[in-house]
Amino acid sequence: MSANQSPAVKAPLRVGVLGFGGLGQAASRVLAPKGEMRWVAVADRHGYAYDRNGLDADRCIATYVDRGSVGHLDTHGVLSDESIGDLLDRAPDVDGYFLALPNLPNTFMASVARQFIESGWKGVLVDALKRTSAVEQLLDLQNELQEAGITYMSGCGATPGLLTAAAALAAQSYAEIHRVEITFGVGIANWESYRATIREDIAHMPGYDVDKARAMTDAEVEALLDRTNGILKLENMEHADDIMLERAGIVSRDRVTVGGIVDTRNPKKPLSTNVRVTGRTFEGKMSSHTFTLGDETSMAANVCGPAFGYLKAGIALHRRGIHGLFTAAEVMPQFVR
Ligand code: NAD
Repeated sequence: MSANQSPAVKAPLRVGVLGFGGLGQAASRVLAPKGEMRWVAVADRHGYAYDRNGLDADRCIATYVDRGSVGHLDTHGVLSDESIGDLLDRAPDVDGYFLALPNLPNTFMASVARQFIESGWKGVLVDALKRTSAVEQLLDLQNELQEAGITYMSGCGATPGLLTAAAALAAQSYAEIHRVEITFGVGIANWESYRATIREDIAHMPGYDVDKARAMTDAEVEALLDRTNGILKLENMEHADDIMLERAGIVSRDRVTVGGIVDTRNPKKPLSTNVRVTGRTFEGKMSSHTFTLGDETSMAANVCGPAFGYLKAGIALHRRGIHGLFTAAEVMPQFVR
């Protein structure tokens, strides 16, 4: 082949999205213009849809918003209360899934991973899990994932995810890392667009835990947000950035802190999301690197972009026979064209 000939066109990777709330819907829009990935499968709590030629994001979102489930799509939609299992039976040839599911209870994502292991499916899974204890449950599944032929990329959203990976990169200038401080600002127009995200954030507030936040009715969430003027202020969160950076050999988990502010009534970010990595160079100089996300980038952009970047990287590992569990601090995401 001469240098100016283009390489053989590769078939797009067939990808699925599990969970079709705020992040799942954004994921379908992120995928729509991509040539390297084709969105073929989706499941929500009440149904699923599968089309090996590709699903249409606008039609799926309209159906979900109007009728409550993609299972109502007139072509390719199936209503089911066992949507993940049924989709897996129906669509064995999906290369990888982004798990945009709520982790409520805190064991839910690990139970979904076990369901994939038991089904015999082989491929790549990516999550955007947030809690340390949730990622720990997946670390416990390392051997089973490996034996099942599944490459599982955990903690691959924004934080953990993009910011954890940035911290791993920034650490390279230092001989010793003293602190990693993640501060996030999230602005969303209304909390109903991201119910699981907001409930899981409330679970970090003093006096709340995951079970309590999960049990709250929508009216109780609204009453809480009325009292705080729509603002959630979060400090010293149990965030898996700590265990991911520790596992990657960068810094012990007690030196990693995560906190932020979520405004549930205004899409403008209340503060600029950033990660600051402080350390000592080999010459003995103390310094900090700061990586700040652009204020115009939404939570959805900063979660779904990395999730698919890690899905592409995971598929490359899978094709080389490398299975088991990896986190965003261990692998570089690849850019999806
Ligand atoms: P959401 O509440 O808007 O949507 C959840 C979706 O999952 C819904 O479509 C629902 O029908 C579906 N679902 C629930 N149970 C299901 C089941 N058993 N089978 C199939 N589908 C099911 O959720 P969201 O706000 O988009 O958040 C999704 C997850 O992403 C949360 O866990 C959140 O914490 C996480 N998140 C991570 C980051 C990060 O940076 N790492 C940022 C934001 C959100």
